[in-house]
Amino acid sequence: MNILLLGSGGREHALAWKIAASPLVTKLWCAPGNAGIAREAECIGLAVADHAAVVEFCRRNAVDLVVVGPETPLAAGIVDDLDAVGIKAFGPSKQAAQLEGSKGFTKDLCSEFDIPTGAYRRFDNAKDATAYVRAQGAPIVVKADGLAAGKGVVVAQTLPEAEAAIAMMFEGAFGSAGAEVVIEEFLSGREISFFALCDGETAIPLATAQDHKRVFDHDKGPNTGGMGAYSPTPFVTPEIHDQIMARIILPTVAGMKSRGTPFKGVLYAGVMLTAQGPKLFEYNVRFGDPECQVMMLRMMSDIVPALLASIDGQLKNFDLRWYPDPALTVVMAAKGYPGDYIKGTRIDGLDDAAKVEGVEIFHAGTVAKDGAILANGGRVLNVCAMGKTVTEARDRAYQAVDRIKWPDGFCRRDIAWQAVEAEQAKG
Ligand code: AMP
Repeated sequence: MNILLLGSGGREHALAWKIAASPLVTKLWCAPGNAGIAREAECIGLAVADHAAVVEFCRRNAVDLVVVGPETPLAAGIVDDLDAVGIKAFGPSKQAAQLEGSKGFTKDLCSEFDIPTGAYRRFDNAKDATAYVRAQGAPIVVKADGLAAGKGVVVAQTLPEAEAAIAMMFEGAFGSAGAEVVIEEFLSGREISFFALCDGETAIPLATAQDHKRVFDHDKGPNTGGMGAYSPTPFVTPEIHDQIMARIILPTVAGMKSRGTPFKGVLYAGVMLTAQGPKLFEYNVRFGDPECQVMMLRMMSDIVPALLASIDGQLKNFDLRWYPDPALTVVMAAKGYPGDYIKGTRIDGLDDAAKVEGVEIFHAGTVAKDGAILANGGRVLNVCAMGKTVTEARDRAYQAVDRIKWPDGFCRRDIAWQAVEAEQAKG
């Protein structure tokens, strides 16, 4: 098969690595890709936002399957445009991508199909939203309705914070994404990520993970795209796993189908394990980044048949196998991230780092220049490792991190601390 992968992050490097390992693949391209992806695929300078150009490339090169990494092209309807000309594309339609593209859409779906989530109201003006938070009190969560690059959520601990968030959103801080605001009940509990693969009719679980959103150790500092992750998380017991499938994932797939907008692709649920059971606080409609990196390491089966089964409605009884061992990833970012950072700094020692047992390094913002690897973004490298335990995976990953010579980069040193503590408590 000829496959085109869209995207340029660590998630796409992990996908490229896994797809390239499939015996079904004849040729793999990636647009636009990065310096690491270039080892697995031919990177091409195709403008992904130009759907006609993507279709033209696929026709010219007899592409059999397009795999879409990030949410933006999904929300823009790339799958619909490829599907319309008979090209198979993995991911949801534009309508179904609203599960990520509109928080209000998802909350309404939850309320229609009885999916456990926090109480909420939708607002199109600051006055009513402010009156509502005053009536509810803090803590409370203020969310821009649309896509805001992961920055559109304010967990307000006090009323003034909530009011400031409402004002900021309606003043246009997130452009049209903040034209509508969802105010949601604050959910307390442990936060986990649950991934399922859907085919419009049914869903099969992928894996669980826990990511680390804050930039600094001990969950300090601003939110980021994610500074590390590990899979599976010990906090999703078999019982909780079944509850999430039965009460959240499957009713969502059934609800989307009954509305005439079946969901295909990866459903990534942000779930809070509350005292009243698992509650959904958000959906994403693609693999998480960096969770995808650890999931690809743990996936034993060939990924390509699974992607095709999702597109073709064939997931019922699909047998997807996983390695039981945990995997972990440490994100290395450019100093200053998620604020301002500089590009073009040199990274050495990657080959040496990759020699540590169980380690795989996936690139995010990198470019190759004159034989050297240079940083070219905020999140730059994903140093991943597998181990018999989370503790072993963590130790291997940090051993590799310590071999990387990049004075202008940094990483968190406490990835998976909760799971490591749980392992130590068990002895
Ligand atoms: P998001 O950008 O949607 O991933 O949300 C950012 C973070 O806000 C999540 O990772 C959660 O930690 C937090 N969050 C979102 N909704 C809620 C909620 N209803 N209660 C508590 N925390 C929340």
